[in-house]
Amino acid sequence: MTERCAICGCELHRTQGTYARPTLEGRSHASKHHFVAERFFGRSNNRRGTQRDRVFEECPWGVEGQTAVFCYDCHEELLHNPIFLPVDIARLADLVKERRLDEVRKTESKDKIAGRIKLFHEIIQRGLKELKKG
Ligand SMILES: [Zn+2]
Repeated sequence: MTERCAICGCELHRTQGTYARPTLEGRSHASKHHFVAERFFGRSNNRRGTQRDRVFEECPWGVEGQTAVFCYDCHEELLHNPIFLPVDIARLADLVKERRLDEVRKTESKDKIAGRIKLFHEIIQRGLKELKKG
């Protein structure tokens, strides 16, 4: 069975040494992505075995450790680089303040960033619902 990207649906492959190459092959290489970043649970991808401060004790969405497979384009270009124009950042900052998720000075607590991450997910979820009406 052909493995396909969970977003754009393109055919994926796992040919060694082609990942991230600026070629059609590089762009269609399979790329695994965690729905909720491992770092939020105190695990580091880059430095295996090292522990960082966790943002979440438990996954708020109940999908800890779950992954999907995408093409390089959808994973590295699309999912990892959301576009915020200046007006978008201003609106986000307003929302953050409204929900008391702003911070004057950092503390040891990760509650505020956890809240901002949840807010950001809510924004994505509501946007998707709004755009997908059919
Ligand atoms: Zn894709």
